[in-house]
Amino acid sequence: MVGACRCSSHSAPPARPDDVIDDVTDDNESVSDIIAKANKDIESAMTEGDVKSDGRRNALHCSSCKWPKYGKYVSIYYHFSNKYSECWSYIGRVLYYRRQSLSLSSACLTTATVQHELFHALGFTHEHSRSDRDDHVTVHYENILPDKKHNFKKYRTNNLYTPYDFDSVMQYQNWAWTSNREMTLTSKENPKLMLGIAKSASDNDFLRVNRYYKCPV
Ligand SMILES: [Zn+2]
Repeated sequence: MVGACRCSSHSAPPARPDDVIDDVTDDNESVSDIIAKANKDIESAMTEGDVKSDGRRNALHCSSCKWPKYGKYVSIYYHFSNKYSECWSYIGRVLYYRRQSLSLSSACLTTATVQHELFHALGFTHEHSRSDRDDHVTVHYENILPDKKHNFKKYRTNNLYTPYDFDSVMQYQNWAWTSNREMTLTSKENPKLMLGIAKSASDNDFLRVNRYYKCPV
């Protein structure tokens, strides 16, 4: 479902970007801005901005990365950790951890950011990393900070017959990791479309989880 409210928001012309690296968390900030701010000191240790992985795992093509399902419930053995001051998760289940951590510092405690990290934990990548992303978004590499270009890698994802979703809580915003205040991500169909402004997960986000874990939809 794409609500009328979200549609009208998306049709607005893009605002001038604020400095995304500041010291104040604001509920109106995008998920990617919150993550970039919280992870500014550890981003180099991440495969992507908030993904902790060795880069070889791809949960959507890895059966052991899926969480077990008993009856109609999927069990996620997670240790929500606030001992770190960042927002990050592994992609899917990591079998060699008895207690898999997911970091949610106070700076990450917005609905969208918590859902974003949980979707990573369930096995999902960023929306702009989908295998079909080049049909839907343009990545402006010339505007990306040189040491942040790894955040725009495309992966071989199983998209579970769901459409590319600009309203996904996994979609980063237009100026993510910009070096020059120019956009780094734009919609191919509408370059003025505001991306990454979801305040909560979309129906497609939930549909993917249900399809991946074979839950009734
Ligand atoms: Zn993320």
